[in-house]
Amino acid sequence: MKGSEQGEKRGGEEKVRAIDSRLLKCYGDRPWSPRFPSLLDGLVHTILSQNTSDVNSHRAFDELKKRFPEWEEAASSPVDGVEAAIRSGGISRVKAERIKAILGMLRARSGSFSLEFLGDMEASEALAYLLDLPGVGRKTAAVLLLFQLGYPFFPVDTHILRVGKRLGLMPAKATPERAHDIMDEAVPDDIKFRLHINLIEHGRRVCKARKPLCSKCCLKEICPRIGIEPVEA
Ligand code: SF4
Repeated sequence: MKGSEQGEKRGGEEKVRAIDSRLLKCYGDRPWSPRFPSLLDGLVHTILSQNTSDVNSHRAFDELKKRFPEWEEAASSPVDGVEAAIRSGGISRVKAERIKAILGMLRARSGSFSLEFLGDMEASEALAYLLDLPGVGRKTAAVLLLFQLGYPFFPVDTHILRVGKRLGLMPAKATPERAHDIMDEAVPDDIKFRLHINLIEHGRRVCKARKPLCSKCCLKEICPRIGIEPVEA
């Protein structure tokens, strides 16, 4: 192994940047731009994306907006109406109750259905505000703040947790909460968005849960798992 590769296996920022530059060559750049017209749209969409595919969550969100063009209408609807609208997104009762609870809390706190004021807050303050909303956990809050506002958080989903552990970016027993702290700190802000998306892509296509395709992996030269775990051709 070359000296620089040894450093990439051990190092902190050096290693993270090496992973990023290799994934960049594999999957391309991911220029940042907000995905939704409002932060509340983004939050509701993120909740709908929990435990389902992108296709299903997009469909559920579109149907929800079709039935309730204004958030006030969803807030005033019985939970059954919201549930029916988002049924295609899976675990619709739980998600409908979460969405209703969030809308109710926003109305009670500010009398409006907007989260745009988060853009005027410090990143840590905005994170704390979101974590105080019903059903909003660390991943959901980090996704919203990174994707909609470009705040320096690194959301950790199931793919990133798995790939990050295999790459030695976090301890094998790190909890999702601890993994968020580690990745927020370890990943330089200028590559947080791109690396988040590319690590998920890599987890889906190559570093799969059951049979990682190590022999075809663009990270194999710097992955500490090579030589420890069986390699799937
Ligand atoms: S070498 Fe294997 S374990 Fe390491 S990142 Fe690639 S696919 Fe995952």
